Amino acid sequence: MRLRAMAKINLGLDVIGKREDGYHEVRMIMQTIKMYDMLEIRRKSSPGISLSVNLPYVPCDERNLVYRSAKLLMDEFGVKEGLTMKLAKTIPVAAGMAGGSSDAAAAFVGVNRLFRLGLSRKELMERAVQIGADVPYCIMRGTALAEGIGEKLTELPPLPDCYILIGKPAVNVSTKTAYENLNLEKIGKRPDIDGMIRDIRNRDLYTMTEKMENVFEPGIVEKYPVIGEIRDFMTKRGAIKAMMSGSGPTVFGIFDDAGRVRSAAKALKASGLARTVFATRTYNPGGGTEDE
Ligand code: ATP
Repeated sequence: MRLRAMAKINLGLDVIGKREDGYHEVRMIMQTIKMYDMLEIRRKSSPGISLSVNLPYVPCDERNLVYRSAKLLMDEFGVKEGLTMKLAKTIPVAAGMAGGSSDAAAAFVGVNRLFRLGLSRKELMERAVQIGADVPYCIMRGTALAEGIGEKLTELPPLPDCYILIGKPAVNVSTKTAYENLNLEKIGKRPDIDGMIRDIRNRDLYTMTEKMENVFEPGIVEKYPVIGEIRDFMTKRGAIKAMMSGSGPTVFGIFDDAGRVRSAAKALKASGLARTVFATRTYNPGGGTEDE
């Protein structure tokens, strides 16, 4: 069985406060994009889970979210057979694109199907939050409002047709660093999440982009100026809006013209500012067998 684990971008990201348990309360608008890792899973006769990953610096043991997700379900259902999994990563690692969370989501969906566990999407999502706050969203996919620690989800209609340009510089930012650089008392511009939701419902892409913000961006750009340079490069090359995704360092630009996104991608590659450059589109589920 082969499953696509798709990346996400945050069209809006607001941090509301810190809870007593240490988690942050967020309000985010999530969007799945057609950039994906491939997860191949098959049964094996001997018990246990074996995982291989095409990148040497991504762990293949319990530290990998794919491993942990498969184990969680197999333990709960007492699955005696074993599982072989192969993960081919395309989504940049530790980049603010929920790569690991999406791989985890694919493992939940795959293991449920492979061993015919009979769990509904909702039941998978309830379990997935134990692996990470973004994993339930990665099972749901599409356009959504995420609240709480990211696990309270409200489905939204798809965005009007547009193109997404991804640019990831050669720096790594952990989510921990992003929170350390965020002073909750001194957040400047916040996204207008409710306004964005109205615009999405009205299919008004241009008005929505005016309300987009990521509260992590100023602090992270100050630390890693190349992120701001990629953002400004995309804007100069015709993006309606360019912004950092999640806790960074990935920058995405929204374009409304196929030719313009193509030439912006080419120019960004040539500039040397970004290590990964990828032009793609948004993804919303709806019929078909898009997982396989
Ligand atoms: P988010 O947007 O949810 O913050 P991210 O893009 O910042 O995600 P990931 O790519 O998920 O971060 O990886 C973060 C860390 O998790 C990596 O340093 C890696 O060692 C570990 N990890 C565990 N499982 C995976 C996986 N399947 N793919 C990539 N990294 C993984």
